[in-house]
Amino acid sequence: MPDFDIKSMNLSEIENVIASLNEPKFRAKQIFDWLQVYGAMSYDEMTNLPKALRNILNEKYPVRSCEIELKQVSKIDSTVKYLFKLFDGNFVESVLMKYKYGYTLCVSSQVGCKMGCTFCASTKSGCVRSLMPSEILGQIHATQRDMDIRVSHVVMMGMGEPLDNYDNTIRFLKLASDEKGLNLSMRNISLSTCGIVPKIYDLLEEKLQLTLSISLHAPNDTMRSAVMPVNKKYPVKELIKACKDYTNSTSRRISFEYAMIRDVNDSDECAYELASLLKGMLCHVNLIPANEINESEHKRSTNDRLQRFMNILNSKGVNTTIRRSLGSDIDASCGQLRSKHVREKKEKEGEQ
Ligand code: SAH
Repeated sequence: MPDFDIKSMNLSEIENVIASLNEPKFRAKQIFDWLQVYGAMSYDEMTNLPKALRNILNEKYPVRSCEIELKQVSKIDSTVKYLFKLFDGNFVESVLMKYKYGYTLCVSSQVGCKMGCTFCASTKSGCVRSLMPSEILGQIHATQRDMDIRVSHVVMMGMGEPLDNYDNTIRFLKLASDEKGLNLSMRNISLSTCGIVPKIYDLLEEKLQLTLSISLHAPNDTMRSAVMPVNKKYPVKELIKACKDYTNSTSRRISFEYAMIRDVNDSDECAYELASLLKGMLCHVNLIPANEINESEHKRSTNDRLQRFMNILNSKGVNTTIRRSLGSDIDASCGQLRSKHVREKKEKEGEQ
């Protein structure tokens, strides 16, 4: 992260900045509060700070925030999708979902993604860049302010591969759960990965109480490598071993995501193979009816298939549920987020 990115700093780092400017220490706490608790978008809002100090800070330590470029509300279930504009003109999307227990925000960790999963829209234009911690936090702040709500749960399941942006992701997690900041419970945060094995071990060392979700989508290497290129580097056996080590070390239950794609990974044989792969693990399987995207031939499995697949897993003792799809009318469901508007803009520019 750039050393001027103030919103990515913790309190003691801001204290260092303040000390270097020969300002009294309490200013650091004021600034941290404005940035992390209130989600201030600029120093102009920090009215309890002297104007001269605000000017200096603005020059040396600009506030990076997410501006709402577009907001879409689902007519089906009130899910909200935001398109946020970043300081350099790039865009990312976030999705707000309302549940009985509160609001969950699905945040992006990169502009695009380089992992190349065949069924996912986020990766179709490659990865433009990784997000700073401030920009991941900014998605939560902007949403809370716009809706006048508190986000209680966060899922890192938007655009991008969080473990391909490891350091910024860890810093984001620590800042988001800082009790002086947003004070989100780590237990209410889920991190989803396509399975970058060495990074799962790094995460294990952090001993965070978050929920680790693994995008599995297939029970063996042949099928998984065909839809997820990352599997060629980190095959199923290594991934499952890492997951077992993770649960042994953290005692946290792992959640496996499995997008059900018609005639690709949804047969009875797949269900049995998956059951034997996950047998005895502290885990939960989430079946996601695959969302259809323009660039892919994949079709979603029928409801009967989903039900049958779930029943087989449950009968074998593997705890399985079917994920409800939210915001489908506004392309807000799993795998549908993309830097669409950037691409449309680029295409328009190309035509001129
Ligand atoms: N890169 C991370 C974070 C993205 S999370 C990861 O792979 O886990 C987005 C989730 O939606 C992942 O589980 C992903 O595999 C899933 N997904 C992607 N495309 C999908 C689609 N078309 N239908 C259903 N789920 C999809």
